[in-house]
Amino acid sequence: MAEVLVYVDHVDGAVRKPTLELLTLARRVGEPVAVALGNGAADTAATLAEHGAVKVLTADAPEFADYLVVPKVDALQAAYDAVSPAAVLLPSSAEAKEIAARLAVRIKSGIITDAIDLEAGDEGPVATQSAFAASYTTKSRITQGTPVITVKPNSAAVEAAPAAGTVEALSVSFSEQATGTKVVSRTPRESTGRPELTEAAIVVSGGRGVNGAENFAIIEALADSLGAAVGASRAAVDAGWYPHSNQVGQTGKSVSPQLYIASGISGAIQHRAGMQTSKTIVAINKDAEAPIFDLVDYGVVGDLFEVVPALTEEVKSRKG
Ligand code: FAD
Repeated sequence: MAEVLVYVDHVDGAVRKPTLELLTLARRVGEPVAVALGNGAADTAATLAEHGAVKVLTADAPEFADYLVVPKVDALQAAYDAVSPAAVLLPSSAEAKEIAARLAVRIKSGIITDAIDLEAGDEGPVATQSAFAASYTTKSRITQGTPVITVKPNSAAVEAAPAAGTVEALSVSFSEQATGTKVVSRTPRESTGRPELTEAAIVVSGGRGVNGAENFAIIEALADSLGAAVGASRAAVDAGWYPHSNQVGQTGKSVSPQLYIASGISGAIQHRAGMQTSKTIVAINKDAEAPIFDLVDYGVVGDLFEVVPALTEEVKSRKG
């Protein structure tokens, strides 16, 4: 069976969930060979093996932390040269998409970004993407070179699939461009204790209807009762009520959680573009004619200031 390279997104050896989802998809098209780079790379091996990696190629060097993405592109290309894979899969994070694009140029291959599903095809992997604000899905395959495909978080289940996960050191020689852009400082984002927006299984979002920064406390309370991330419409972000890093939509982040709860959001096309692939959509809006109700699985016509706290209490009471 052909091997498939999977680029590992991890923090100091802790593998992030989108990579485990990638392994589920990779197993549909070949034998996953994981590539883990940077500090803690070798520590990822046990988790990757539990989820189907037959091999884990690891490399660590100061270049990975000290410079922007090029050293990682060099390393992924070294893995590509060593393995000659049938496909290269990466998560759809901002960094991994840049790595994917640069690798595709180097190996003269086509690239598909932000896939939401992947299956084996007679002539190579077939990726599903969501288009035109998720009004359509398209299926496509790459016709030139080795397919390079990035996949959005929450596109597949995490599955246990024990495999050998043999660890091998990857030998990397860095290109001239590798040290072209130095990282001067890193500022960790203040932790809210909530899951990362694009990876969360549940997202609770607030819009203009929330009517003020202080009122986002009720959105956060519902999110916390559900273990969810908090999102916001652009109207709420532009009003300064919530940070841009939490904006969902065309000019914000794309989310695809199991459950998306929109409160006081009208459902403009640019908002839908970032959340329409959510598995179950719930909207709370006092206007029964709001366009968001066209795409929901469950709609509540009501005042969010009554409905959201009541929902929070209900969730809390069911948790005991
Ligand atoms: P509104 O459209 O004003 O809707 C507020 C809703 O709250 C209404 O439906 C109202 O009935 C309801 N409401 C009010 N009070 C209550 C209450 N007490 N209880 C219940 N419901 C209540 N938007 C995004 O979200 N993300 C993007 O990334 C984005 N990118 C854009 C890019 C471009 C190029 C452009 C032109 C626009 C973009 N927009 C984006 C803006 C988008 O067009 C809308 O203006 C925006 O999504 C509206 O936000 P909203 O739904 O919160 O506000």
